[in-house]
Amino acid sequence: MVLLNVKNVRLNYITTRGIVKALDNVSFSLDEGETIAIVGETGSGKSTLAKVITRSWEENARVIGGEVIFEGVNILGLSEEEFRRSYRWVKIAMVPQGSMNSLNPVLRVVDQMIEPLLLRGIPRIDAIKIAGDALESVGLSKDVLTKYPHQLSGGMKQRVIIAMAIQSRPKLVVLDEPTSALDVMTQANIMNLLKRLRSKFKLSYIFITHDLALASELADKVLVLYAGKVAEFGSADVIYSEPKHPYTQGLMSSVPTLREDKKLSFIPGEVPSLINPPSGCRFHPRCPFAMDICRREEPPLVTLENGHVVACWLYVKG
Ligand code: SF4
Ligand code: MG
Repeated sequence: MVLLNVKNVRLNYITTRGIVKALDNVSFSLDEGETIAIVGETGSGKSTLAKVITRSWEENARVIGGEVIFEGVNILGLSEEEFRRSYRWVKIAMVPQGSMNSLNPVLRVVDQMIEPLLLRGIPRIDAIKIAGDALESVGLSKDVLTKYPHQLSGGMKQRVIIAMAIQSRPKLVVLDEPTSALDVMTQANIMNLLKRLRSKFKLSYIFITHDLALASELADKVLVLYAGKVAEFGSADVIYSEPKHPYTQGLMSSVPTLREDKKLSFIPGEVPSLINPPSGCRFHPRCPFAMDICRREEPPLVTLENGHVVACWLYVKG
């Protein structure tokens, strides 16, 4: 069963320097219970795509095209009120990038956790019960409810954030770099927790990361973004064993070094400005295989076997 179908999403940011074309015709689909990893360098559009799916984009963002169909409903077409009542923190939850450091320091954990529940009209006493149970399912004690964020370690804070995300039993959880601020041991513990929660609550994940090694632990599918466009999309097995797009191949070859969100030394150059993206294929200034046509014309999305797609002239026949 298809849970989420993202179709031709286009988003611009309006900035003082010009219009930033942050997402251009991005499409992918996700079945119930599946996990998709969205990978790419800083500036590739990963977090922006997460914000479209959770309708949490910034004031200066404009969604100028496309649909996000969740369980058959285009959630971009709903009113804010409808989305808040039935989707946000209900069916679709998010662990935003850096969220463990955005817990309000003057609020106890319980007050932060129950806020979205109270907003939905759940009585306070029930909300506290739900929050306590959620803490236990992420391996924390109910005592954490009465704590302030400064009394918790980084790993505990991240568990609180994950508990908040799953407490309403969503179908889809969008995780934006959920382990990037943690040490290696804590990171491994959180990854194991995410696996346990996924099978216990039958969750689907959108797992956003610049770390392909980490992504391989969870992902059934992989979407590779480059400069706001889909470079490649397909099953994780195929993308890890036989990446087709030159950019994916470059990412794969630099896997051991991808622990920090920085530009890749293995692929010379950097993600281009999206105010004036390069002509043709946006990757052509960095691509070792670039041909004349790559500089002139955008490559089409070519479908290979089993729904695997790649945007590259190397795979266009004839
Ligand atoms: Fe490289 Fe051309 Fe393929 Fe772009 S379309 S990735 S420049 S070969
Ligand atoms: Mg990001």
